[in-house]
Amino acid sequence: MNRPALPTPDSDTLASLDRQALYATLHARVEAAWRLCREVHPQLPRPEVWCDLRGKGAGQAHFGRGGLRFNPVLFEENRLAFLVEVVPHEMAHWLVHHLKDGHLARAHGHEWQTVMRRLFGLEPLTTHRFDTGRASPAPHRYACGCREHDFTPRRHALARRGRAYRCRHCAETLVYQGRVVFES
Ligand SMILES: [Zn+2]
Ligand SMILES: [Zn+2]
Repeated sequence: MNRPALPTPDSDTLASLDRQALYATLHARVEAAWRLCREVHPQLPRPEVWCDLRGKGAGQAHFGRGGLRFNPVLFEENRLAFLVEVVPHEMAHWLVHHLKDGHLARAHGHEWQTVMRRLFGLEPLTTHRFDTGRASPAPHRYACGCREHDFTPRRHALARRGRAYRCRHCAETLVYQGRVVFES
């Protein structure tokens, strides 16, 4: 079994932190994840960090801006899971993108999954059990052989009742993955 490479924070301590201390913890976690990645890629640039992501996504690796974006609402509501899973998830995208030909890799493909498993010691999940209670237009993720598809509650209900949806690109039947949390 995998063991998380980064230490698991104490959830009671996290719950007691004020805003400033909480965001300092997030930045420290990003720093620790980045240092871990530098062990396999010493030239990996340090990503900028912004807490300006809104909506359904917990995090996003933004290569154009040169850093990682995090969702402050989801972070404050899901502190432990965020530090344990979302930070490595986005840092793994950052690392893969900077590997040779990494920008050609599929977002949650083999390379990203390998970084999550081997380097961070985590299951490579693209969906999450965060219960945000927040309205999202298309919170249900499906996948085919070539990409991810996000369904509205209406389409998801039809699929659950047996309607088969196929990918327009690869023609494979879409398979339900779970609720979306990670944006990219
Ligand atoms: Zn497809
Ligand atoms: Zn992702």
